Amino acid sequence: MTDHPGATPAFAFDNSYHRELSGAYAPWQGEKVPAPRLVRFNTALAQELGLDPEALDSPAGAAVLCGMRTPAGAAPLAMAYAGHQFGGFSPQLGDGRALLVGEIISPAGARVDLHLKGSGRTPFSRGGDGKAALGPVLREYLMGEAMAALGVPTTRALAAVATGEKIHRDSGAKDGAVLARVAASHLRVGTFQFFAARGDTEMLRKLADYAIARHDPDLAGQPDRYLHFLDRVAGRQARLVAHWVSLGFVHGVMNTDNMTLSGETIDYGPCAFIDGYDPAAVFSSIDTTGRYALARQPDIAVWNLARLAECLLGLIDADDAAAIARAREVINGVPARYQAAWLGHMRAKLGLTQATPEDQPCIMGFLQSLQDQSVDYTAAFRALATALRGNRAPLRALYRRPEALEPWLEGYLARAASANRAPDARADAMDQVNPLYIPRNHKVEEALQAAEAGNMAPFESLLTVLQQPFTPSPDAQAYAMAAPESFGPYKTYCGT
Ligand code: AMP
Ligand code: MG
Repeated sequence: MTDHPGATPAFAFDNSYHRELSGAYAPWQGEKVPAPRLVRFNTALAQELGLDPEALDSPAGAAVLCGMRTPAGAAPLAMAYAGHQFGGFSPQLGDGRALLVGEIISPAGARVDLHLKGSGRTPFSRGGDGKAALGPVLREYLMGEAMAALGVPTTRALAAVATGEKIHRDSGAKDGAVLARVAASHLRVGTFQFFAARGDTEMLRKLADYAIARHDPDLAGQPDRYLHFLDRVAGRQARLVAHWVSLGFVHGVMNTDNMTLSGETIDYGPCAFIDGYDPAAVFSSIDTTGRYALARQPDIAVWNLARLAECLLGLIDADDAAAIARAREVINGVPARYQAAWLGHMRAKLGLTQATPEDQPCIMGFLQSLQDQSVDYTAAFRALATALRGNRAPLRALYRRPEALEPWLEGYLARAASANRAPDARADAMDQVNPLYIPRNHKVEEALQAAEAGNMAPFESLLTVLQQPFTPSPDAQAYAMAAPESFGPYKTYCGT
């Protein structure tokens, strides 16, 4: 078990969380692992962050990115947080297998966390082994990069490092791995809940001011900043979840510890994109009640934001009743904000450029037809653009009973023809927002299974396609197709 030779890559860290929030973390180090090896390194992201890709894409880089070697200027720590998991509250979760290595300031001036997942046990590990398996690590890499390319706010994968050690899961012995990811921050609703559960008002205030400085610096020092901060987080989450739903993305585990204050998607465990349109779609094996089903996500976001509001009450107003009234106004406003954001996405997806009161019924009519016949959600919107260009065949081919769509389609095409925008231009604009390629479940599984067997080629091909989700590529046709019948109903498992 030897560390790798070579100069440790240099980072210009500035560790504000470590400096300012003592009490919100445990200083910690990654575990030594037998043979760290980079399985995937995100050169483009490293460049964007002003890191040195050559120094990092090396054995010494692998030792840093799995957490066993601490680079100069880092202040690695495990973050404390609590959280509601499937509605039940745990006052202490925390980074049980993760480390915040430090914060990097990118050339564009953005502060981002460099965070490792799978780097070994911490004081927050409870019964867990602190490890991650290669499959789930690569899954998070792939899903996060796909979301980024789709324009959805998200944490990003910088690297996947195989550790050379076997770890033990219900499904058997697995190759261990560490995911190195970056995020605008790892502050969660659950971070606030940790201190609220302990009645620690002083830490709550510190944390809120820290979060404001980091995500809403224009609010810093303002008298009503905590209420406005709640309002900002609510707006970011309403827009994020609207974007998810518009793409058919099911996060799968929207616990309050997996909801960021930055508005980035975090923790890709059992997430998946739908095939056939179904508002009740659930993939996670442990979500037996459908709590986190596709169309329940906006309600859950509201519920989670209400939990954040509860933590902030004492800061919002010294008078309890007044604090509750003011926070409630923000929370009660979230559904309308979600609806507006969702409608914006759906209008764009259908090419409804001039907002009218008929948009909503038009959108619902299309969705109902998709749901009635379990039509592939992603393919349907591309085919709709093709119908606008004059060819209805691809859209009809997605329906078992295409005649059922005709009345809606006639109305839609008539409306498009009467507007002052050429159908082709409208269709082109739709293709800019309707992905041709999403991480299709059967393709993701195929790529991960090959990777677990040592062949990264399918993963690389899939990732390449997902990086240009709106642009047709001649050799990528198979990636746009629905799963074969033989793939069966898809189940996902929490990435532990
Ligand atoms: P998640 O559902 O993956 O967001 O994780 C929920 C909580 O469980 C977090 O506190 C994690 O750090 C912790 N956790 C998940 N897997 C492990 C593991 N293998 N070892 C220790 N802690 C874990
Ligand atoms: Mg989590």
